[in-house]
Amino acid sequence: MEALAAEAEDRRITQGVHLESRVLCDYDSGRPGPLFLIIGGMHGNEPSGVLAAQRLAESLRESPVPLRGRVLALAGNLGALRAGVRFLDRDLNRMWAARELEDVRAGRDGDAHAENTERRELLTAIESAIRTAPGRVIFLDLHSTSADGAPFSLIGDTLANREIALRYPVPVILGLEERVEGALLEYFGERGHTSIGFEAGEHTRKTTVDCQEACIWVTLIAGGGLEESAVPRARELYTLLRSSAAGLPGVVEIRHRHHVDPDDRFVMRPGFDNFHAVQRGELLASDREGDVLAPEDGLVLLPLYQGQGQDGFFVGREVRRFWLRLSRVLRRLHLELLLPILPGIRRNPEHAGGFLADPRIARLWTVEIFHLLGYRKCRPIAGMLQFSRRIERPPTGGARA
Ligand SMILES: [Zn+2]
Repeated sequence: MEALAAEAEDRRITQGVHLESRVLCDYDSGRPGPLFLIIGGMHGNEPSGVLAAQRLAESLRESPVPLRGRVLALAGNLGALRAGVRFLDRDLNRMWAARELEDVRAGRDGDAHAENTERRELLTAIESAIRTAPGRVIFLDLHSTSADGAPFSLIGDTLANREIALRYPVPVILGLEERVEGALLEYFGERGHTSIGFEAGEHTRKTTVDCQEACIWVTLIAGGGLEESAVPRARELYTLLRSSAAGLPGVVEIRHRHHVDPDDRFVMRPGFDNFHAVQRGELLASDREGDVLAPEDGLVLLPLYQGQGQDGFFVGREVRRFWLRLSRVLRRLHLELLLPILPGIRRNPEHAGGFLADPRIARLWTVEIFHLLGYRKCRPIAGMLQFSRRIERPPTGGARA
């Protein structure tokens, strides 16, 4: 009975938040330092990031801190947040591919979808903040999941992203952005900014808001905006995150995404939390074609338990710290210069610094080698695998890895 009462108490945030303005928090200390750009509620059924940013604003109003730089927190999809749904017409977090943004900047995007206005307003706010930022830009995108489970971060694998994400005592997920096109993380990553997604737990849990809030403060510390000693609750915040993710691997790489089309009639089987271990061939879901099985042994991430969305589930696998250390050394030695001597691999004439790999010749470990050297797998062209170099800006903040 007590457990039930605690559960009811825990689940008390409701979807559909009241918001008058997109700006949730704007705190500029006037001291030089990074721009911390935070977005909550990019998906309207994920209010926890908005609530956490509002808590941050309140806390900074009541007790100012000696921040270096500026914190700007914005609400993502205002219309969908008010309605309490993931999106109204189109997923706002799939609308940031470079070619689409060209249309927005040229005024050709139109008003066919409610989200076009949201994107225009956000893009203007983001680009104006970046333009006036004197130093490093650190982007934090706050999300939550339809399944239960521990918090985790999502990054493109640059050393600058790792430097911050490895400071959160929760798992870091690599390679998800390679499998979803047009996410806002990609927009920041392509410009060489530090960009981190944070999935804080199930959409409506109160602890999800607590984890988002902890993530924001830890980011301010890890990004060199605040000394840990300036945050009286720092220890408590680290403990909250650490205990929420106890026993989970430190780094997981995504190896499989199950794509869902709206008429697939996809239904995830009940009982899969984030990081649920599965074996190859295990029944995970069903759709109009029949059973959907796990393609390999691994950990299930982001299983879809809501009506909207095109990612059915992901399967990932733990990456040992050894590989992270090795890749750091390889990247510093610029071993990518040796790539063109490997069979089946050549420079991409259309994309400076990029490579093409012929999957019929370069069969073994191709993707793994490119990942180690700091490359991102892009959309294949004419049967060739395509890789582009992730932009790595030297960190200018006071972060310690
Ligand atoms: Zn989301």
